Amino acid sequence: CGIIGYVGDEAAAPIVYQGLENLEYRGYDSAGIALVNGARATGGSRATGGSRTTGDVAPDVAADGGLTVAKRSGEVSNLTVPDAPDATCGIGHTRWSTHGPPTDANAHPHVDCAESIAVVHNGIIENHETLKAELGDHEFTSQTDTEVVPHLLETELSETAGEDAPDLRTAVERVVDRLEGSYAVCAIHADENRIVAARDGSPLVVGHGEDAAFLASDVTAFLEHTREVTYLEDGDVVDLSADGDVEVFAPSDDAAESLPRRPVDR
Ligand code: GLU
Repeated sequence: CGIIGYVGDEAAAPIVYQGLENLEYRGYDSAGIALVNGARATGGSRATGGSRTTGDVAPDVAADGGLTVAKRSGEVSNLTVPDAPDATCGIGHTRWSTHGPPTDANAHPHVDCAESIAVVHNGIIENHETLKAELGDHEFTSQTDTEVVPHLLETELSETAGEDAPDLRTAVERVVDRLEGSYAVCAIHADENRIVAARDGSPLVVGHGEDAAFLASDVTAFLEHTREVTYLEDGDVVDLSADGDVEVFAPSDDAAESLPRRPVDR
């Protein structure tokens, strides 16, 4: 029932956890967090050409990759917040179950088979049975409608792997095109400090920080960090990058549009 996402230059886990606590008033039966395993870049590790100093290097993802996922049914306080000071990109979810009872396995985030993609979702995917049947041999571990999304993303990303591989944003666009129902979905991939999200029928708002960006179903999730927000509209796909840059892609809009910043409505 609530989504929070953070990407920037600070540790994501405490920010995401705080966001979940801020969203508690909306009602929920389960909660969870997924983080891109991070490695703080030190000077030369990521610098090419030798000209970048430590301060210029953005936090990087861990060389051995992977995601850290923690999820539980019940109170947000049941969650063990991952101790991951180097992870600077993460998403969180409070669930109000519609498909599948409130169990640990049904709590969001949901992952793909390779556990490289994590997804949180608010709303209902009406055609999840059909999509699941089309996914054939993918193994599912929950009873939710949501779990088709990371698997569809995995298929998109692997079927076209190689030179023309779609990036996460293109994959999200292609997958949400196939969803019927209402959703705010939010995805991360283990290889990148980046969040891609889309909405149709469920609210989603972006918060602009300094070298950081936030994403939530409700501004209250991140109000202690920023009051500069942009409300997304149905059909929008949004791409939040490691340095806090935000791009919104409207339906059938080819060109990326940089967001105008505007203060929070009061
Ligand atoms: N339909 C999804 C589920 O049951 C998402 C529910 C929600 O909006 O929290 O897991």
